[in-house]
Amino acid sequence: MLNEKVAELLNTQINKEFYSAYLYLSFSNYFSDAGLDGFANWYQIQAQEERDHAMLFIQYMQNNDAKITFEAINKPENTFENHMDVLEAGLKHERYVTGLINNIYASAYELKDFRTMQFLDWFVKEQGEEETNATDLIKKMELFGSDPKSLYLLDQEMAARTYAAPSLVL
Ligand code: MG
Repeated sequence: MLNEKVAELLNTQINKEFYSAYLYLSFSNYFSDAGLDGFANWYQIQAQEERDHAMLFIQYMQNNDAKITFEAINKPENTFENHMDVLEAGLKHERYVTGLINNIYASAYELKDFRTMQFLDWFVKEQGEEETNATDLIKKMELFGSDPKSLYLLDQEMAARTYAAPSLVL
């Protein structure tokens, strides 16, 4: 039986992960409009991963007989002036999500909920990777974004990303 507070935080996280998927689809739309189909592909796959995260939280709660309540998913606010704005919004968002995961972890730790801590370990590692990816994209855009030929090649690189199911199995 999950502690009430931990269950509530996990329930909220389902919504946050679906919001992340929605946000990244909006990034994908931005890049599709901009003619950068590789970036659009990259964020579409990112959105799929976020949906997977939501499903993992759902599965974990179901496995522990916790009641799930869905809330409305917020509208992503997109006022991007340029490509870099999108990438920076991505990094800011991942840092925010890291804070959310850490907050759930802190509650589980306080309650000696070792099961939830072990479940969250994968997400702690995943957030490290997400922040690294977001930072790398910003660096690449800084280096190559102002040169059309380089941006074309970078877009090709982004087009190569393929979907892989999460390594965490519950
Ligand atoms: Mg996520």
